[in-house]
Amino acid sequence: MSNLKTTRLIGRFDGGQSGNLVIVLGALHGNEPAGVHALRTVFQQLNAQAENLSFQGRFVGFIGNVRAFQKQIRYVSKDMNRQFTIQKIAAALMPPYRFRDSEDRELDELLKDIRAEIIDYQPNKIFLLDIHSTSAQGGIFAIPFDTDASSVALAAALQVPVVTGMMTGIGGTTLHFFNGEAFGVPSTAAAFEAGQHKDPRSADRAKSVIFNLLRHANCIEPTAFLDNTLAEDNEFPSESLPLMVDLKYVHHISDEDTFQMRPGFRNFQPIEKGQWLANDKNGAVLSPAAGRILMPLYQPQGKEGFFIVQHSNS
Ligand SMILES: [Zn+2]
Repeated sequence: MSNLKTTRLIGRFDGGQSGNLVIVLGALHGNEPAGVHALRTVFQQLNAQAENLSFQGRFVGFIGNVRAFQKQIRYVSKDMNRQFTIQKIAAALMPPYRFRDSEDRELDELLKDIRAEIIDYQPNKIFLLDIHSTSAQGGIFAIPFDTDASSVALAAALQVPVVTGMMTGIGGTTLHFFNGEAFGVPSTAAAFEAGQHKDPRSADRAKSVIFNLLRHANCIEPTAFLDNTLAEDNEFPSESLPLMVDLKYVHHISDEDTFQMRPGFRNFQPIEKGQWLANDKNGAVLSPAAGRILMPLYQPQGKEGFFIVQHSNS
């Protein structure tokens, strides 16, 4: 363990005179370290090969919420991934500063750091990936901003299942802010759910996904840094990727429901309409639709018992 103060910047790698700016955020939720670990590994690998590497563009990795990351908690005062609206950002940047909470300061500092990279590098385009993880095992997929075709294309390029429809009903996420022209430069963003918070495979997957992102952004050659981490991952469905699915149903639960998932369901497993999925205080819980099950709840706490996704073109 080091005593060094944790800094927001994890690494920066530059190549060529001009190109795209790739920004990867880890630990926007402070208890989700997979992205931070993956970024450290990716920068090590890039630096180790820097002399014979053809790299075009600038790649930077940041810790999204430094104060929460140091405390290993999701957030200090409020969920950082709901603060990316013009109104909330304006309020966070506004004096009197003594009234700002921890996430207001984080937001201010993170956006200043990103703006500094843009002013310094003058990129053609910006690509942003926001890496998350989950308390339960599984649920590994990319999340695009559904209304943005370039965000969907970015998510598909990560070579993991893509789940659309996840953003319905929520606002102020990184995807809301970084898809469009947030800094006067065309900007495309997607999120990646890497797996369980402390599972070392989550960081391994995130590492491979970051290299796929660098490929998509034309920073590295198509054949550079290829590995089989994702192809050999047994948490994924067996068919070829990217699997494009759309969220169709969320089974919300409360403690009084005494919800209990039946054993043996796996992420993206096909299910039939009417299939017996779980039990609760009213008896059997049957699937309201055919499709695939996602994130079945096998831990004591949770607000969702399971999700159902369907192929996007069905
Ligand atoms: Zn998260």
